[in-house]
Amino acid sequence: MATKSVLNDSKQVARAVALINLGARLQVLESETDLSYERLLRLYKEVAGRSPSKGQLPFSTEWFLTWQPNIHASLFQNIYQYLTKVSALEDIDAIMKAYKLYTEQIAACGVEPLLSITRAWRLVKFIDNSMLSMTTCSKCGGHFVSEAYENSRNFECGLCSPPARAGKGAASGGILLH
Ligand SMILES: [Zn+2]
Repeated sequence: MATKSVLNDSKQVARAVALINLGARLQVLESETDLSYERLLRLYKEVAGRSPSKGQLPFSTEWFLTWQPNIHASLFQNIYQYLTKVSALEDIDAIMKAYKLYTEQIAACGVEPLLSITRAWRLVKFIDNSMLSMTTCSKCGGHFVSEAYENSRNFECGLCSPPARAGKGAASGGILLH
C-alpha cells in the first residue's frame, strides 16, 4: 500500500514523536504508525526518557460512563467530531489535535485533565465500533458519551443530573460549562 519513501517515513516518525509527547502508550503508536516495534521502543525511550509502561490498555467502556470522566470524554469527543467534520485530517491527527484542544480548554477551567491521550484514542475506537455512542441530553441539548443504545428521550447528562454523592465539593472540582 504505502510506498516506502523517506517522506512517508519521516511523517511516521513525526507522528510517533507527537504521540509520545502527548503521553500515548506504546500500543497506540503500534496501531497508528507503520514503524516496527523495535524502532518505536527506541523512539519512545529517546523522546520520553524512560521505558514505556507495560500492561494492558484499558479495555472497558465503563470508565467513560462514570460521572466526571464522562464529562471530560464528552468534551473531547465533541471537539474531535467537530474537527473531522470541518477538516480533512487523518483520524489519528484529528485525535491528537482534539486532545490538545481538550487539554487547553480544561486548563482554562483550572481543572486537571482526566482523559489521557490513550483513553481518548480508545474512546474514538469504542464509538466507531458502536460500543459507545453520543446521545443528546434531553435537558440541556448537549452531546454526551453514553451507552451504545441509550434512549435519548429520557437521557440526562452528568451536568444536568450530577449523582447525589457528588456533593458541593466534588462539583466544584468538575468542569462547569456556562
Ligand atoms: Zn444536560
